[in-house]
Amino acid sequence: MSVPVLMYHHIFPKESFIASSVENFEKQMKFISENYQSLTSEEFVKYKKGELKLNKKAVLITFDDGWRDNYIYAYPILKKYNLKATLFVITGWIDKASEKSYEFVTRKHNECKKIVQERANEVVLNWDEIEKMRNVFDIHSHTHFHRDDYFGKISLKEELVLSKERLKEHNIFSNQLCWPRGIYSDDDIKLAKSIGYEVLYTTKRGVNIPNKNLDEIKRISVKKDDKWIKKQLFIFSNNILGSLYAKVKK
Ligand SMILES: [Zn+2]
Repeated sequence: MSVPVLMYHHIFPKESFIASSVENFEKQMKFISENYQSLTSEEFVKYKKGELKLNKKAVLITFDDGWRDNYIYAYPILKKYNLKATLFVITGWIDKASEKSYEFVTRKHNECKKIVQERANEVVLNWDEIEKMRNVFDIHSHTHFHRDDYFGKISLKEELVLSKERLKEHNIFSNQLCWPRGIYSDDDIKLAKSIGYEVLYTTKRGVNIPNKNLDEIKRISVKKDDKWIKKQLFIFSNNILGSLYAKVKK
C-alpha cells in the first residue's frame, strides 16, 4: 500500500490553470470522505517512517502557495466532509498580505501572480485567516519568498530560515517543506535538513511507501473531477501500479 499525496493550488468557481472548480473539488472531497481517510501531516510522517499502521486506505491532501481562495472555497468544503489537509505557505507573502485587509476578488492564477507584488492582501492569505484554518489545515513551509524576487532577492538559506522563524512567531512549529516549483538539488536537500526541515515535498509523481526516506515525498497534481481522482487514487495507492504509472508521461 502507498499513501497518495494530492497537490492543489487554487479552488475557484470555474476550472482554469492549476485551479479546480468548486463543484469538482466538492465531488472529489465527497469521494475521499466516503472511500479514504485523510491524514494529518504528522500522521503521514508517522506512516512514512513505519510508525503508524493504517487500517484503511489513506490520502494526504496538500495545497501550495497559500492563496486566499483556499480560505474562501476549499476550507468550508473540507470542514463539511470532516477532512484534514496540509497547506504550504510563503511566509513573506503572508506578511505582505497581512499589512492591511482587503476585499477578496476571484482572479485566475496568472493574474494572482501579477498582482501579488502590489496587492498581496487581495489574493494571498493573511495570518488571521491562517489561524482560523488551523482546525482543518496543518501549516508548513513553502519558503519565505518562493525563490521569486517580488519582494527582494534573498539566498535559499534565508528563504528557509526566515520561513521557519515567521511560522514559529505564529506558534507554528514546522519541520516540513515544499520546494517552490518542485525545484531543488542534492545540496538544497542538505541545506534544508541542516536548518531543521525533515520532510521535503516534491512535484514528482509516484508512490509513498513506509521506508523512512522523507527527502522526496511524491505528489499528484490534481485535475478534473471525482472520476479522475478515483482512478488516480486507485493507481497511486498501489506500490507496483503507482511506480509503473509514475514512469509514464502524463
Ligand atoms: Zn508554489
